[in-house]
Amino acid sequence: MKSYFLSDQNLSAFVEGLMSKYPVIAPVAKRSRFVFEKLVDASELRLDYDTTILPPKKVFFPAKQDLIHFDQHGFTCCIDPTEQVLLGAHPHDIKGIAMSDIFYSDRHCDNNYMANRKATTIIGSSVQNHYKHAFFGTMNAERPLTGHDLFMTAIEGGFAVDVVTERGEALLPLGTFEPATEAQVAAAVEVNRKAEEDCPEKLNGTAEEIREKVRTSFKSPVWEAFAEKCFSCGSCNIVCCTCYCFDVQDEWNVDGVSGSRFRLWDACLTREFSEVTSPGGSENFREERGERYRHRFMRKAAYLNEQLGGPACTGCGRCSGACTANIANPTTVINKLLEQ
Ligand code: SF4
Ligand code: SF4
Repeated sequence: MKSYFLSDQNLSAFVEGLMSKYPVIAPVAKRSRFVFEKLVDASELRLDYDTTILPPKKVFFPAKQDLIHFDQHGFTCCIDPTEQVLLGAHPHDIKGIAMSDIFYSDRHCDNNYMANRKATTIIGSSVQNHYKHAFFGTMNAERPLTGHDLFMTAIEGGFAVDVVTERGEALLPLGTFEPATEAQVAAAVEVNRKAEEDCPEKLNGTAEEIREKVRTSFKSPVWEAFAEKCFSCGSCNIVCCTCYCFDVQDEWNVDGVSGSRFRLWDACLTREFSEVTSPGGSENFREERGERYRHRFMRKAAYLNEQLGGPACTGCGRCSGACTANIANPTTVINKLLEQ
């Protein structure tokens, strides 16, 4: 892998170079938090962010996405991706994107997601500040980092920049890079190792131990005990890098003959998610809060673990921070199950 050095002084010029060719989606400050948003000015970029309110999946899978527009003559597809750059995704968020790539292409290809994904060049960046709930050092840490094109690690005086793909390499003429020294490459490896070691929260089991323990805990009283406090708000789903469920709805225009079919992020913790119509009424196949609460952990730690070869969780900690009831933290729940 080729590695280069980008000095702190040359960062802005590189970002401006990117912005001259593409929309650049990157972490920017929003009050006391951070969000991924299209840069208007290079100075908005905050590579020192701890986490963003929503994960970068929104770049490929927006919270609301038109699928088709229709009228009395037929319909037109809404897939129309823009070539863009996602700059500053943390390693665990890149792993979340790689997991989503599998969810959206395995068995049945989701062209609405994949078109945006293929049109996006990803530049990752090292974690400079930890989110207080992060545990990515012990969650899928062994999963290889794939799917990005360049990776920037903050080291003394600038960034060590690893070239991962030809698409990433093609961006280098937009900045002033020099070959990285062996010492700079070694410093970058140490920075990323330390970022994992310094995670504030930790899981105590391997991917296999977690899968076995969660799967065999289906009847554990743990679910009900935590779920007692659950508001069924779905926030833990909405902020998650690896939640990918959506609801499809139609919206008619006032002319009564045309409209749009769109999809919205959905959340399995909400009561409506598992409600279906049946002759003469409706049926809810996860009526109880405890069933819905358990389902989230079963999906991430057991069922999808089998598909991915590791839990469908990146250890970002967003769910812990989003939960008003303070019961969504995977380390608390899974470590408790592992102790039993
Ligand atoms: S379950 Fe929580 S920690 Fe894991 S990826 Fe989703 S939001 Fe992040
Ligand atoms: S965020 Fe917390 S309260 Fe809301 S659905 Fe998830 S676990 Fe329940």
